[in-house]
Amino acid sequence: MAAQRSLADSLRWMAEGTKTFFGALAGLPDDRLDVPTALTGWTGRHLLAHVAANADALLNLAYWARTGEERPMYASFERRDAEIQAGALRSAAELRSWAASSAELLDRRLSELDERQWSRPVRTAQGRTVPAAEVPWMRAREVMVHAVDLGAGVGFGDLPADFLASLIDDITAKRSGAGDGPALALKATGHGGKWTVAGSGDPVAVTGTLAELAAYLSGRAAGPGGRPAPALPRWL
Ligand code: ZN
Repeated sequence: MAAQRSLADSLRWMAEGTKTFFGALAGLPDDRLDVPTALTGWTGRHLLAHVAANADALLNLAYWARTGEERPMYASFERRDAEIQAGALRSAAELRSWAASSAELLDRRLSELDERQWSRPVRTAQGRTVPAAEVPWMRAREVMVHAVDLGAGVGFGDLPADFLASLIDDITAKRSGAGDGPALALKATGHGGKWTVAGSGDPVAVTGTLAELAAYLSGRAAGPGGRPAPALPRWL
């Protein structure tokens, strides 16, 4: 499919996703943050520390875009993981306030960028060089998908359809580039979207709603709508 994603789309999804994430979080009592999430080895505290640290890391890219002075998201993967582990030990109140203040600051700093700064190349944690205009998309992806991971009642079906289609564009491109999984031919019912994933073997047809396909492709469901589908390697 790969409809082109505009900066305006990404900024809108980042704002909607932030609202969805913090809305879900507000309804989650502190003790629920101690419970394991669907993400291996992570409680709600780890997830909250990760979302907060992600905003801090993207603030580095916003600085890079504004000044042209290189400032990577994370010093290293080890430091990133150590920060999540240490962050998870903070009190629930501290974690909530860190997540909220870093999200607000990121929003403010991004709103200050001009057209030239949006086009400045920056580097993602995975080592891809992208224009800074990708930063709001990277953040939208985090807050939307992790709003589901919070386990506070938000599902993929609650996320905007145009965001889900863009997420599927993104994941299928990433999976095709990696080429480390099975070949797939995906079809979204009630939407008409079609995607392929390059990989091993003859393409396996996988059909589901946008929400079901996004959950499956992002590794949040073993198959669309509980139906069997080929096992996939990690997404990110
Ligand atoms: Zn994440």
